[in-house]
Amino acid sequence: MIGKCNCEAIAFEITGSVPSVYHCYCTLCQKQGGTASNAGTITYADKFRWLSGESSIQKWKKETGFSSNFCKLCGSPVPNIFKSKYVWVPVGLITGLNTNAVANIWLSSKPTWSEPAQLELNCDTAPDDLEKFVQFLNTGI
Ligand SMILES: [Zn+2]
Ligand SMILES: [Zn+2]
Repeated sequence: MIGKCNCEAIAFEITGSVPSVYHCYCTLCQKQGGTASNAGTITYADKFRWLSGESSIQKWKKETGFSSNFCKLCGSPVPNIFKSKYVWVPVGLITGLNTNAVANIWLSSKPTWSEPAQLELNCDTAPDDLEKFVQFLNTGI
């Protein structure tokens, strides 16, 4: 499926089925999106490619490792390749995506003004094992 930022300068494609969605309630994601949580998924780098606009990506990285990549023209968050083999994808960029949300993470920092639904997996902090979490999003438990 194809995703685009608001101004459509940046476009990307995920081949095969798009993995399930998770919501992250960490304080970094709250500031990045200006809301209670980020809705994202994680795919593998070999299933992801940029179609256009890579030169319009602005990158910000916190010393702790958190990365926020966004379109410098319109401000939409854009995918972010990490640990060289994973790609975090903000799923709101994919129009018509028809997949389910299966996990909430960082519920310990959920704001009082948000009431998330209980999903298949509900973690107070980050998932214990990143690779297992990515497999869960991609294929289920
Ligand atoms: Zn844009
Ligand atoms: Zn987060």
